[in-house]
Formats: sequence, structure tokens, C-alpha cells
Amino acid sequence: MAIATINPATGETLKTFEPLTDAEIAAKLDLAGLTFDEYRKTSLSDRSHALEAAADILDKEKADFAKIMTLEMGKPYKAAISEVEKCAAVCRYYAEHAAEFLADVAVKTDASRSFVRYQPLGIILAVMPWNFPFWQVFRFAAPALMAGNVGLLKHASNVPQCALAIEDIIQRAGFPKGAFQTLLIGAAKVADLMADDRVKAATLTGSEPAGASLAAAAGKQIKKVVLELGGSDPFIVLESADLETAVATATTARMLNTGQSCIAAKRFIVVETIADKFEKLLLEKFQALKVGDPMLPDTDLGPLATPGILQDLDQQVQASLKSGAKILIGGQPLSDRPGNYYPPTILTDIPTDSPTAQEEFFGPVAMLFRVADIDAAIKIANDTPFGLGASAWTQNEKEGDRLISEIEAGAVFINSMVKSDPRMPFGGIKRSGYGRELSIQGIHEFVNVKTVWVK
Ligand code: NAP
Repeated sequence: MAIATINPATGETLKTFEPLTDAEIAAKLDLAGLTFDEYRKTSLSDRSHALEAAADILDKEKADFAKIMTLEMGKPYKAAISEVEKCAAVCRYYAEHAAEFLADVAVKTDASRSFVRYQPLGIILAVMPWNFPFWQVFRFAAPALMAGNVGLLKHASNVPQCALAIEDIIQRAGFPKGAFQTLLIGAAKVADLMADDRVKAATLTGSEPAGASLAAAAGKQIKKVVLELGGSDPFIVLESADLETAVATATTARMLNTGQSCIAAKRFIVVETIADKFEKLLLEKFQALKVGDPMLPDTDLGPLATPGILQDLDQQVQASLKSGAKILIGGQPLSDRPGNYYPPTILTDIPTDSPTAQEEFFGPVAMLFRVADIDAAIKIANDTPFGLGASAWTQNEKEGDRLISEIEAGAVFINSMVKSDPRMPFGGIKRSGYGRELSIQGIHEFVNVKTVWVK
């Protein structure tokens, strides 16, 4: 895949980039290694100041950064602005809390003094996706840098300008030159990086095949990996739910980032008694969505990020129809314009054995399932290889408790959509990956948890 900025709204190639040569990659690794030797000794307060400076740059220049995102991957501009603001927030969160998260933890034993100390590991490789091209990187970089690690970023090939802008922000914020470097390289170079002794661990956010490939390369070298992979999150609506709010949230949760979010609600599982009403209200909401130029302020849905994403989504919808599903709205790429546009789509009557029923639809397509009761809802919710998030709607506390304990996912949100928040851990189970980002758990993923025993 070429490293290039291709405007998804027009299909126009705006800029191409030469991938780094092996010698250039080696020089960046050398710099990262040398930087780590010094950077690990810096004080937490120096690191905090730099991270706060990064937050200030993000806030001040958010319009510029948002434009780069929209240009490279088609995210509606207003959503891109929110994304930059969230990056500033995660920087401030770790600047404020890292000292508490990384403090020695005394443990009472028969030693004269025993405690746990958290120490950085070294160079961490981050392989990142295009869908939240700033947020995914900052939610890794902020805790990693606070913990004293240094980062190398291999960003998705379609967002090189985002990758370079992030490196620039971190340098301008006052971190040493080698503390965070972007590598403009293709995916084929990742295994070589994992084999380099200086790279101590890696994190990957992306698809299952990419995660499996990185984990295999890391496994060969016995290196730690955090994987944030795909999801097919259920959105369960039971009879006592506040239906109006549930439908409005369902629309937002499915359409966020033009449907290209790992934690988007993808399978809507509704009890039969309220299913007709839910379906009618959801259809009205989808009909009202504005698809168009992502730079315009009133656009709800922009283009999909690449022609490949559009093609995959189209094929999944066609396979679903072939297996017996019906279309309520949408269902075909928008061929009346250039760019990778796909309309809001609702699939109903999906046979449970349909080949795509358990897949992740990475675009604005909602799958609607009708169920008899909460037992059937939980069964369908768990009938997927993924386990990232789940949203469930009920006013009944007992039902809520059952959903919290029986749904197989890294997160369950009751009467709310699934979202990431720096204060809470984020990650999945099953084929959605392993490890956690954000909160105290996130900063502890890439540290040596050192046991200290003094007699
Ligand atoms: P992708 O193709 O897996 O790409 C993600 C990153 O992995 C890119 O930097 C890509 O580089 C790299 N990559 C691809 N194949 C690789 C390989 N064999 N070895 C090493 N690196 C490789 O994913 P995508 O299609 O862009 O993103 C969509 C997927 O990401 C969805 O499944 C979505 O659910 C998931 N996602 C998960 C989360 C989460 O937090 N759980 C968040 C966002 C997205 P190139 O661009 O150069 O190919």
C-alpha cells in the first residue's frame, strides 16, 4: 500500500511519500535507543510539563490538525475538532495523574522493606489505524511517555500527514528529539522492527489479521504486545428502555466516524414487543442524516476512508442480502458522485446463520435483530468472535445486573453508548484483542513491575 494522502471525498491523490530506507530506519532506531538512555532519567514533573505543552499546542492549533484528518481519511470536520480536543484531554489527564499511577507501592511482608516499583521498558512500537488518526496515537503516547518510554509510530499508510503532525507536536512540546518518531514505512517492515533487540514491546490497533501478524512476530521474540482489534458491539434494547433516547443514541453510536469505529454499535438487538416502534424511529433518524462533503459543518456522514473499505462493506451487505436479509434503507454505494460514499443502511430479517451476521461492518450499516426476551438477547449478543463493548438499555436494575455480568465484552454501558474515557480502562476480550489502554491499567502495560525486597 502506497504511503499517500488521497482525499476520500474526491479520490484525488494529493501527496505521496517515499517510505524510509533501511538505513533511515536504523538511524531512527539508534536515536530512539540513545534518547531512552537519558530520557528514562528525567523527572516526572519535566515529562508532565512537556505533555501539558502538547495539550496546549493541540488546543491552539486544533483547526489545522482537524483539517489534515478530514483531508486524509474523510472524518466530518466537526468530529475531527472533537478528536483533537480529546487528545489534549488525555495528555492533561496523564500529566496530572502519572505520578500517582507510577508511585512505589509498599507491600507488607516479612522483609524490612518491600515494595513494587514501575520502570520504563524502552522503545515501544505503536502500529496505528487511520480511523481516529490522532486519538489512537495520543492515547498510547501520553502514558508511554509519562512512564519514561520512547515511542516509534508506524501509522496507517493513508494518514502520513497526521503521523508527521503528531511527531512535530510532541517535539515542539519539549520532548527530546528521539522520544517519539514517526516511521513512514509499510506494514511489511513491522516484523523486522519486532526482531530488533532495542524494540521492547508493541501496541497495535487495527484489524484481526494485522494483530495476529504482529503478535506472531512478537511471540517469536518473547515481547509484550497490546492488541486493540475489531468489534461487533451489540446494542440491546429491552422493553422498559427509554425508547426515544435509545433510538437517538443508537443512531449516534452507529454513525460516529461514518460508522468506522471499533466501538460503534453494530448489532441492534431489540425485544419483539417494542421492535416495530424501534425500527420505525431508527429509520426516521437514518433518513434525516446528511451525507456529503466532510468539511461542511452540517455534514453527518462523510466518505469512507478508502475505496477498499467501501468495497468490503458493499460485499458484506450483498452477501447478507443473498443469505436472506432485507434492506430497510440504503444498501448501495452512492455512485452519483466521486469519492467513497455509502449511505446510512439498515439490514433486517438477518438469518442467524448468515455468513456476515457475526462480522464487523466497518461503515454506516446497522443490523437489526428481533428477540423474544433478555435470554435470547444475551445469546445473540455473545454469539460473535468479538468482545469489545456492549450497550444495553433497560430501566430494570435486575436486568441491568444480568447484562453487566453475562455479556462477554471488555466494557458494558447501561443506558449509554460505549465510549472511551481516559479515566476508565479500554480494551477487549476474545478476538477483539488483549491488554488495556487508558486509566491506570493503560500506563501499567508498558512498564517493568519490579518487585523490591530489602532485608
Ligand atoms: P489494519 O489494516 O489492520 O491497519 C491498522 C494498522 O496496521 C496500519 O498501520 C497498517 O499499516 C498496519 N498493518 C496492516 N497489516 C499489518 C501486518 N500484517 N503487520 C503489521 N502491521 C500491519 O486496520 P484498518 O482496516 O486500517 O482499521 C480497521 C480495523 O481496526 C477495524 O477492525 C477496527 O475495528 C479496528 N480498530 C480497533 C480499535 C480498538 O481500539 N479496538 C480502534 C480502531 C480501530 P498499513 O496502513 O500500511 O497497511
